[in-house]
Amino acid sequence: MSDMTWDVVVVGSGGGALIGAYLAQQAGLNTVVLERTNLVGGTSAYSGGACWLPGSDVQQRAGISDSTESARAYLEALLPQPLSDQIEAFLAEAPRLVAQLEADEAFAWEWLPFPEYFDAPGRVTMGRSIAPVKIRRDELPENVEALVRPPVELDRVGAGGRRTLSGGQSLIARALNAFLRDGGTVLTEHHVTDYVVEDGRVVGVRASTPSGPETIRASRGVLVAAGGFEGSPKLRQQHGVPGAAGWTMAPTGTNSGELMEAAIALGAEVAHMTEAWLCPGLEQPDGGGSFTLGFRSGVMVDAQGRRYANECLPYDRFGSEMAASPDRIPSYLVFDSCEGGRLPAIAMPEGDPEEHLAAGTWLRTDTLAELADKLDLTDLESTVDRFNTFAESGVDEDFGRGSDEYDTFFAGGDGPNKALVPIDAPPFYAARFVLSDLGTKGGLVTDVHGRVVRADGEPIPGLYATSNSAASIFGPVYPGPGAPLGKAFVFASLAVQHLTKESS
Ligand SMILES: Cc1cc2nc3c(=O)[nH]c(=O)nc-3n(C[C@H](O)[C@H](O)[C@H](O)COP(=O)(O)OP(=O)(O)OC[C@H]3O[C@@H](n4cnc5c(N)ncnc54)[C@H](O)[C@@H]3O)c2cc1C
Repeated sequence: MSDMTWDVVVVGSGGGALIGAYLAQQAGLNTVVLERTNLVGGTSAYSGGACWLPGSDVQQRAGISDSTESARAYLEALLPQPLSDQIEAFLAEAPRLVAQLEADEAFAWEWLPFPEYFDAPGRVTMGRSIAPVKIRRDELPENVEALVRPPVELDRVGAGGRRTLSGGQSLIARALNAFLRDGGTVLTEHHVTDYVVEDGRVVGVRASTPSGPETIRASRGVLVAAGGFEGSPKLRQQHGVPGAAGWTMAPTGTNSGELMEAAIALGAEVAHMTEAWLCPGLEQPDGGGSFTLGFRSGVMVDAQGRRYANECLPYDRFGSEMAASPDRIPSYLVFDSCEGGRLPAIAMPEGDPEEHLAAGTWLRTDTLAELADKLDLTDLESTVDRFNTFAESGVDEDFGRGSDEYDTFFAGGDGPNKALVPIDAPPFYAARFVLSDLGTKGGLVTDVHGRVVRADGEPIPGLYATSNSAASIFGPVYPGPGAPLGKAFVFASLAVQHLTKESS
């Protein structure tokens, strides 16, 4: 058993963790990142890298109508409660943080056209999210490149692998590169299991490592950014989170919420524990779910073969519709051959259609009647007949598909409504869908300095949280692309500012 001391211990290595670690090291604090797996990046490395950080110079340069004020109006319209101090802190800090990151050549950001998730006052046409600029592998030191968790298609099914890192790959590579360049330390295969507490203050953590248990001490504080509890069947069930650990998008063997439980044992308050960043998940032959968005054609039906929502809704909102009834899990995407038998949507990973057919996660028949019969989808034929009349008229009278800019962003039909494509080209397919998620949203309640607080609002000295380890400041709402990462960065930054002022 060894004993190590650092100024700041960061647990986890997703986007929030690495941005926090980078900022702490930049501020002159000797910082270590502890990651339980042998790779850095977690779910953040799978992500599109979109960051919802309103009002920064990046949006200004792109000439879009974003501002802190319009983001405030948008959140005011969406959130069930008046804006909290945390939201105000988020709005104030986001542009400053982006400017600080942009001042370092290790980072580069650009506007990412991707519509926001609600038609509400303050919404920016084509969105206000920003994303890290792509980076080539040969621009990175070998030790950085080797540590970054691969994209989800490669990590899960061995597909793909590119010379250029984009989205979450670029995000993780850039932040890791800058952190290591500045003298930061990353220790992989360090599974943090508990906190070390002295006189009521968190002064370090305990980790299990390949060489045995270790105590890692933090003179300033511990920043927990270790994902949510999406990977824990026990905690999901305990808190009533819809979906299942086997369907989540978090890498296998990662986010199981033990540090939330350990913080609760210290008196920490938690919130939004039933919530997750939900999405429809294409069921894979191995039983997992693949995050699916951008439906271009087909209809999603329940156990009776009936549609229940606009399939083109933002994924989190469609996921909530799925979660609303047990008849919708599984659901079936019924589609035709207009795209040559491939899934008319973006699924990560999609998987090979022939393997799906062999495994029974997809079914193919010459007629819709056969499909309905084999899956016992009683109302399927009338559902498709009705949908085809909508495709002809251009109006989805049941769910308004194609009436919002998000609906038409991915659509490619050539009828009067490009989100409504008739289902009439045999053979026909049914792909089974489960309820997946990009992580849970419930977690440790923090104040405007990222400090974990008790029920009475008093902080637990030495303990900070961000990422999905902290309760989402957006509560049940997913305002737009990049909200998970955007809030994770901001609260990492606010935590580091507070840690920097704390005397050692
Ligand atoms: C395909 C896909 C696309 C997405 N696109 C976007 C997007 O564009 N923008 C966006 O904002 N969000 C996006 N998301 C969602 C987003 O990626 C996640 O919600 C977010 O990355 C979670 O960040 P995190 O830091 O909480 O967890 P993670 O990124 O999963 O990082 C947590 C890390 O902590 C480690 N860890 C966990 N427990 C311990 C422990 N006890 N000790 C040590 N280490 C531990 C894990 O191994 C893991 O590496 C996407 C998700 C997916 C799957």
